Amino acid sequence: MNKWSKYQDELDALKANNLYRKMTVFDSAQSSVTAANQRQYHMFSSNSYLDLCNDDKIKAYASEVMKKYGTGSGGSRLTTGTSRIHVELERLIANFKKREASVVFATGYMANVGVISALASKDDIIYSDELNHASIIDGCRLSRAKVIVYKHNDMADLEEKIRLNSGRSGLIVSDGVFSMDGDIVDLPNLVALADKYSLLSVIDDAHATGVIGKTGRGTEEYYDMEGSVDVVIGTLSKAIGSEGGFVCGSQLLIQYIINKARSFIFSTSLSPASMAASIGGIRAIMNDLKRLQRLHQNTAAFALCLRKANIIVNSQSAIVPIVIGDEARTLKIAEKLKERGFYVSAIRYPTVARGSARLRVTFMSSHTTAEAEALASEIIQCLSEE
Ligand SMILES: *Cc1c(COP(=O)(O)O)cnc(C)c1O
Repeated sequence: MNKWSKYQDELDALKANNLYRKMTVFDSAQSSVTAANQRQYHMFSSNSYLDLCNDDKIKAYASEVMKKYGTGSGGSRLTTGTSRIHVELERLIANFKKREASVVFATGYMANVGVISALASKDDIIYSDELNHASIIDGCRLSRAKVIVYKHNDMADLEEKIRLNSGRSGLIVSDGVFSMDGDIVDLPNLVALADKYSLLSVIDDAHATGVIGKTGRGTEEYYDMEGSVDVVIGTLSKAIGSEGGFVCGSQLLIQYIINKARSFIFSTSLSPASMAASIGGIRAIMNDLKRLQRLHQNTAAFALCLRKANIIVNSQSAIVPIVIGDEARTLKIAEKLKERGFYVSAIRYPTVARGSARLRVTFMSSHTTAEAEALASEIIQCLSEE
């Protein structure tokens, strides 16, 4: 028997079901126009919502910091991997999020996995939105807590499920902005339930940070509820334009995470240049609201064009999904858009449910309104042709 045959069979099955994945190789910095396959694309699938991955000032600052502190950090955070620049970034994040303290992980994925598994254990219950990000799901699994999944953003369903288990300690965990749908958690009711039933509220602000709220500080600011969520997790890899994850909250929370979160303790800390890029990204967001405004203008212009063609989309954040359903059809439309110079990712199972494949259109502050409108008319055209 060939010991690899079952793996080959699984790959063949993915191909047969239009679920096989491969990577696109890009040849330039990620920006509103990005190079790949010997050509340029209008990039409408990047998470660099404020186009900070390719900011000249930030690149210069990161290079300077690299010259001073070197390329690698040389250790995990609790051994030799904490430099002055790491501490500076953590202070800045706490300040930006208006919290007592914060701590940085190597990725947002590792922040979710580490924080959730540190805060919950076998006797706890975790209430988790059915559309939460994979890294939350993995953190729940790793915690060994009982996981109860509630209907998407449905606070009545959540309360019913909590009531059936009342008296048990645990967490309520949700994306702030949902990564494949672009809608926003019902934070006022989620926090009220957490307080009523003595559960910790945990919000993953990966797609909210730098995008929603008057000054881009995320979900709490969007609802004017700063300081009300117990645990705010986020990433430095999306609007902030760098890499790494973070958690922020009270001193107690952060000291606990530093001592207990295994993905924090047992992994090398990020490079100084990444820290500097994050500092530069957050400062850019704090000092200049024009990027945020441009981002929302683009999203609104796109949604308006689609609405005129009777395609109703959610446009509260930088993520505007156009749900097609069928996997093969979605791939075909994404391919057509590429031929016409627009890079839009087709998102399929297991990232979203089977049969709810979609074009995940995301916007950047540096797109022009004309580009956003041109994409809308190409999509309307493609949908009518298919
Ligand atoms: C991208 C993402 C993460 C993971 O962050 P990385 O820094 O890319 O590892 C976590 N949660 C959500 C909701 C995300 O979209």
